[in-house]
Amino acid sequence: MQLGNLIDFEIEGEDGRFLPRLRSLSHIGFPWLFERNRLLLWHNFIQKFDPHLQEADEIDPFYFHLLLQAAKRWKKQNPKRIICESYIALLDHEGRLYPEEHCYICEGRIEEEIALMQAFKPAHPRCIYSPALPSKKIFDLFRSHKATFLDDHEIDLLYEVVMKGF
Ligand SMILES: [Zn+2]
Repeated sequence: MQLGNLIDFEIEGEDGRFLPRLRSLSHIGFPWLFERNRLLLWHNFIQKFDPHLQEADEIDPFYFHLLLQAAKRWKKQNPKRIICESYIALLDHEGRLYPEEHCYICEGRIEEEIALMQAFKPAHPRCIYSPALPSKKIFDLFRSHKATFLDDHEIDLLYEVVMKGF
């Protein structure tokens, strides 16, 4: 199956260490494999794992489970929302979630509005010249790992940050 092969190929990486376990994802035959937009987003998402995990000697099963859970939900929910929630879980697992209500750039307190840098580091929108998001919703997301209360526009902004790389 060509689309399944595309997935295998994209997650294979240079040395193929990540391949054997993830290959099974496409063999499960997820129904969204034939939906162009969902497949494209999946491709964008898993593409970020290879550079991120390249240095690891052994791949923590956490990443496989994270992707498997995401793939199961992919058909029913906005995939960008799933990407944001998965990424929060990943940052938390790696101890990189930065729940401080202070700007990463100027160290000033973050009030109602927040912007996120790569790895979802909080900043003032003016400090990084980025669109503002409501701080309360973002810190709720950090705590709950749930993005249900964010609207699609906000999800789009978060997705763009994730796409800068893990
Ligand atoms: Zn600042």
